[in-house]
Amino acid sequence: MSERIRRFLEQQRPPTPCLVVDLEIIRQNYCNLREHLPLAQVFYAVKANPAADVVRMLASEGSSFDTASLPEIDLCLANGASAENISFGNTIKKERDIADAFGRGVRLFAIDSQEELHKIQRAAPGSRVYCRILVENTGAQWPLSRKFGCAVDMAADLLCEAQTLGLDPYGVSFHVGSQQTDLDQWDVALAKVAMLFSDLQDRGIELKAVNLGGGFPAHYQEDVEALPSYANAVMHAVTKHFGNRIPALMIEPGRSLVGDSGILQSEVVLVSRKAYDDERRWVFLDVGRFNGLAETMDEAIRYRLTTSRDGEETAPVILAGPTCDSVDILYDQANYCLPVTLQAGDKVEIHSTGAYTASYASINFNGFEPLKQYCI
Ligand SMILES: *Cc1c(COP(=O)(O)O)cnc(C)c1O
Repeated sequence: MSERIRRFLEQQRPPTPCLVVDLEIIRQNYCNLREHLPLAQVFYAVKANPAADVVRMLASEGSSFDTASLPEIDLCLANGASAENISFGNTIKKERDIADAFGRGVRLFAIDSQEELHKIQRAAPGSRVYCRILVENTGAQWPLSRKFGCAVDMAADLLCEAQTLGLDPYGVSFHVGSQQTDLDQWDVALAKVAMLFSDLQDRGIELKAVNLGGGFPAHYQEDVEALPSYANAVMHAVTKHFGNRIPALMIEPGRSLVGDSGILQSEVVLVSRKAYDDERRWVFLDVGRFNGLAETMDEAIRYRLTTSRDGEETAPVILAGPTCDSVDILYDQANYCLPVTLQAGDKVEIHSTGAYTASYASINFNGFEPLKQYCI
């Protein structure tokens, strides 16, 4: 936990559950990324943490933005981004939202289908389009496969048609899956992208950009490689497949920029057993799957926890949230252990919760409010 967050929690004692995000950590992460991938233009994936303070700080550092909806575009415009630094990166958009984005000055759009291409031709004439291709998400702890992207041969046809329709066939994108632990996945994806580039070159079209997507990790229970290893793997793959004709590079980090900046402070509501001979205790927190911890679905993302009783003897627990829905169990299979003396009222900190938490919280399920976030 950063010194600034520790001090904030000590001095302010905000009601729990709450998320405290250290903007200085995000700034540092952004600068590190720029330093290690100087050729890549950074488009922050706004959905990871759409707090206005986060967007404003990144805009002031010169970041561009990957957005998925008109409200996200307006959020960026209201907090210092200019329209030419915004990508409308969702491949599934209403035509009137495309038109409104175009009206606000956005000129960069993602596609992965012919119908979407035609919407953009009608609603955003002359714009740059990039086509997302399907790639394996092997090794990703939060895969995004299948729903987005199309096959390489289809992508080639779409980009050709884009040219015919008076659009600018700008490039190709992919996403190797979020919290990607296999550094070779960028090489696998870039091999496909390079084939697509040369195929289109044969058809008289010079693509200009490769969008490398997200996938860089935050620090959860499992160790991950450090950023320089990821940057090396990516640049090695780019050079291998493009030689000295490196296209413009875009990258869309979400989790790796904001994940480690946040601490979720929660409180134990109940510790219980369901039978006298139960081996494991149930620990119920005041935060769960519906008010911030959606990514515990299938126990995919395994956060690091600390408690006010660390150092004491520990034993296995099942960890659950406070709502009356039985899917609101955070960790059962994941073998979490917590201090045996833990009891109602004790604080539990959930680490690296700056990404995909507050923005995933439901409005009012069981009367629980969305997770409150403080940016400091
Ligand atoms: C969610 C998303 C990202 C961010 O991915 P991370 O793994 O969090 O970095 C990037 N690009 C697109 C298109 C996305 O949907």
